[in-house]
Amino acid sequence: MKEQLNSLRSSTIDLLNQITDIKVLVDSRSRILGRKGDLTAILRGLKDLPIDERSTFGQLANQIKAELEAEFDLKETRLREELEHSQIMRESFDVTLPGRRFPLGRSHILNRVTQELVDVFAGLGFQLAEGPEVEIDYYNFEALNMPKDHPARDMQDTFYFSDNLLLRTHTSPVQIRTMEKCRPPVRIVCPGKVYRRDADVTHSPMFMQIEGLWVDKDVSFADLKGILYAFTREYFGEKLGLRFRPSFFPFTEPSAEVDIQCVMCGGSGCRTCSFTGWLEILGAGMIDPTLYGFVNYDSEIQSGFAFGLGIERVAMLKYGIPDIRLFYENDVRFLNQF
Ligand SMILES: [Zn+2]
Repeated sequence: MKEQLNSLRSSTIDLLNQITDIKVLVDSRSRILGRKGDLTAILRGLKDLPIDERSTFGQLANQIKAELEAEFDLKETRLREELEHSQIMRESFDVTLPGRRFPLGRSHILNRVTQELVDVFAGLGFQLAEGPEVEIDYYNFEALNMPKDHPARDMQDTFYFSDNLLLRTHTSPVQIRTMEKCRPPVRIVCPGKVYRRDADVTHSPMFMQIEGLWVDKDVSFADLKGILYAFTREYFGEKLGLRFRPSFFPFTEPSAEVDIQCVMCGGSGCRTCSFTGWLEILGAGMIDPTLYGFVNYDSEIQSGFAFGLGIERVAMLKYGIPDIRLFYENDVRFLNQF
């Protein structure tokens, strides 16, 4: 019996050295050490031995069993490690391959044009000011010299939430809000979204404006012209002329519509300018002294001007975009071009 046990031990160890497959290992283990395995078969012979030898061989058998169990465990651990390693190798990737690039977003063309405009005016000494898009009647109309019955209100198709609450129709309320808070001199630009009930190729119910305001002592129409010349030359190019036409706004007096020479044809006439050579680009004027009463400025001492332009209009002219609706359709093919 001792020989049987020893030969089982050595043959099992030989076998273990040859096994390379984990399934074969598991099968061999149950064939040799399992309940119906070879070792059990040998141990069955114990009962035929004399009693004094039984315990000796029983001990030897247990010792060999423990040893072989340990050997099987060790081999199994090794095989599993090898298997895992080879799987990693198979799933591994070529680190020298170029990576996948995620497409980078960019700011919307209107935001970029806004930033460009703010930068130009910052260079001329204007500070950035902002205000709420949901406005009260007072700031949007009343304090801009448009009392309840003023006909100019009809020109601004307004979205109302209630009699008193509305979506601002222009960025001008920011001028009032800023003057309420700051003593002169005030020199600000206020860009932002505004809303009017209006939609076609050149009108969108939501659009963007940028307004400038300069109030100080002895600010004159000549200063207004100087600033606007400096702005158009900086933004559209050196050679474009400006044309001031008399106009009316409730909050400025005198008021002017300002045209620039057509950026497409340089003034010789084309479809963009309807063959006039001029493009209407902004409204401007000297602050109506009535407004100073609303913000406690002394109209005897202070004077100033304001101007406003549509940011979409500027972007359309600068980048040759034919339809205002393209800005708000979120079509990446369009937006990627800028
Ligand atoms: Zn033209």
